[in-house]
Amino acid sequence: MQFTSSRLEEVRGLLGCEPVYSLDYNLDGRGNPVNGVCAVTETELVILENDAVTFRCPLSEIEEFVTDQLVGSGSLAIVRKGETRQLCIFTQDRLNAFAELGKLVEYHRDTGVFPDPGEAEDEVVICPKCGSIIPEGTNICFRCEKKGKYLGRVIRLSLKYKWSLIFSVAATAAIQLLWILYPYLQGVIIDDYITPRNPDLRPLLALLGGFLLIPIIIMVMEIVNERCTAKVSMSVGRDLREQLFRKIQEQSMKSITKRPTGEQIKRISSDTEKVQQFVAVYGKEAVVRILSTLVILTVMLLMNWKLTILVLIPIPFALWAVKAIFKRIRGKYELVWNHYSQSESTLHDILSGILVVKTYGSEKREIAHYSEYSDRFAKSMYKADRYWSIVFPILTFLMTIGEYFYLYFGGQQVLIGALTLGELLRFSAYISMIYGPLRWVIQLPRYVAECAVSAGKIYEIIDEKEDVADRPHSVDLDVRGQVTFDHVNFGYKVYKPVLKDISFQVRPGEMIGIVGPSGVGKSTMINLIMRLYDVSSGSIRIDGTDIRDISQNTLRSQIGVVLQETYLFEGTVLDNILYAKPDATMDEVVRAAKIANAHNFICKMPNAYQEYIGNKGYKLSGGEKQRIAIARAILRDPRILILDEATASLDTETEKLIQEALARLTENRTTFAIAHRLSTLRNADRLIVLDKGRIVEMGTHEELLRHKSVYYNLVMAQRQTSKLSKEA
Ligand code: ADP
Repeated sequence: MQFTSSRLEEVRGLLGCEPVYSLDYNLDGRGNPVNGVCAVTETELVILENDAVTFRCPLSEIEEFVTDQLVGSGSLAIVRKGETRQLCIFTQDRLNAFAELGKLVEYHRDTGVFPDPGEAEDEVVICPKCGSIIPEGTNICFRCEKKGKYLGRVIRLSLKYKWSLIFSVAATAAIQLLWILYPYLQGVIIDDYITPRNPDLRPLLALLGGFLLIPIIIMVMEIVNERCTAKVSMSVGRDLREQLFRKIQEQSMKSITKRPTGEQIKRISSDTEKVQQFVAVYGKEAVVRILSTLVILTVMLLMNWKLTILVLIPIPFALWAVKAIFKRIRGKYELVWNHYSQSESTLHDILSGILVVKTYGSEKREIAHYSEYSDRFAKSMYKADRYWSIVFPILTFLMTIGEYFYLYFGGQQVLIGALTLGELLRFSAYISMIYGPLRWVIQLPRYVAECAVSAGKIYEIIDEKEDVADRPHSVDLDVRGQVTFDHVNFGYKVYKPVLKDISFQVRPGEMIGIVGPSGVGKSTMINLIMRLYDVSSGSIRIDGTDIRDISQNTLRSQIGVVLQETYLFEGTVLDNILYAKPDATMDEVVRAAKIANAHNFICKMPNAYQEYIGNKGYKLSGGEKQRIAIARAILRDPRILILDEATASLDTETEKLIQEALARLTENRTTFAIAHRLSTLRNADRLIVLDKGRIVEMGTHEELLRHKSVYYNLVMAQRQTSKLSKEA
């Protein structure tokens, strides 16, 4: 990242000293273009707009830097004496640099050192060719990327099934050749046997037999063709789906959550199907039709080269037009894809949250919401099709001009006796045979564009770089349970730090409660322990090994999680408990369920452990779902346990059962627990209190109460609230 203004000379002159960091910005507070520089000297922050200093502030007075993402731009503000002051606005590509600048100055405030600007990876990546923002997690600019590249990859993938492909192409080519033979026989019959009125009918009958044989061979070839094509296309579709699904499973939470679920489903299902269909129908057909056109052309040139050239005159023009149209139509289909994906994502979102929709009676609003996206999709599709419906007839007309040439000149040649009627007929059949494929070829841009867009969307995910990947020499660690946070900083976005300089150490078997106001970063902390995200700086170590050096599989297999919202999959109670350890025996499952206080309620269900619990476990109460989650965690027998608000919103009786189960579960395991009700964390060995992303207190419940600071205030506030709600 560059932290030196392009107007450094001027800045030096205006400030009278050398700035430590200086960054250009290009928009003033109202979004108008301006020649601005934000400069940091040894002692102050200075804003220069055009040729004048418009703001200065001593570094010691800056409490916080705030960078924000606006629509297509970003802004920098500072908090000074409790008040926020906006300094400048810049185009989005500068967002990371300004966020980094804020961090550098904050670092100087804490340490007295101006660090070298880090090699922090740009989060907003700009395409060097067209200047548009490249979506997160990919290096591909979809405006500039050659779409043919993705089609090439689909073709290479099809070549994995080369024998089926060869058979299907060969069968189709044979069918085409046999159709070419048909008019040839027709011409021979007319010219040699019907026109000369040959009384010997035997050769004629033999030829008619050949006529009958051709459709039979064609039928057999069709069967071979259909079977081989189906094999190639289904296999290509399956391979793409598997590659995509594997990639999505391997992606970090950051990558997975940046795309709506509905969009990911669309890529796995309908995009792969589009590519599959293309391979089955258009890809192979294109090869065969081009080949057969070449064969027919050769035959025609041999028959009558002058007439052939006349017929071919319009073709280069039509092909050039096709190429030009492809460029435009691709953009239109990209838009169709985006709108379709939005409508699918909305649909998925609404169906996933149908309970909320029903309870809030917002069906009408959601219908309108979905209709809006569906309408947008229909309109973009209509626009693309309308464009095509105008272009296609024009292209077809252009292509068929050659046929008029042929009729005019061919007719003349028959009249002067240079061509027989049979030859003319044969020639005519061949012309329609090359115009058939060519008419088909001009339809191609539409399907190629659709397939290219889908293939691009598939490979965009497959090619995505992994941000939380196993290192080459990652180890399989047998975890004891010591956890160390060493100066950990983290933000979901570079410019929005959530956790700042977090350091602490946890002994094996210790229970740590994490408390603090909502949104302070408690869940983020446990996400980092599970390595769902990687820290921005600092490190997290388990038993002394950086978690980035531990293979993700071993790490997660030794961490158990009980979350507030337990997710249950479709299936039986048994399937759901076994999810933690698929090879567990029935005895182990029952033992785990008993420890989790779940065995009794499971046995009361009509089919006990075989009870089908349906979509997301709707049949079960919140407390029951949690006890299943606890049974899962017990079965897994993890060394590190994470409890996120595990006993929130339950009745007293259920809570007692769950607390009992949790007490058994946490025994001898390193536990991190987040609880909304602070009283549930009384038994924790230590509490970590977070405020504004930093650890502000650490100690036992009693110690922190005696301390009468942040934790004390939180407890008092909660007691007050519960007293009020009891009185009410
Ligand atoms: P807590 O658990 O203390 O309530 P979280 O750790 O969930 O807080 O969130 C801390 C901050 O991080 C919040 O400002 C929240 O909006 C933000 N945040 C949480 N998850 C994400 C995410 N996946 N992407 C971006 N920001 C997030």
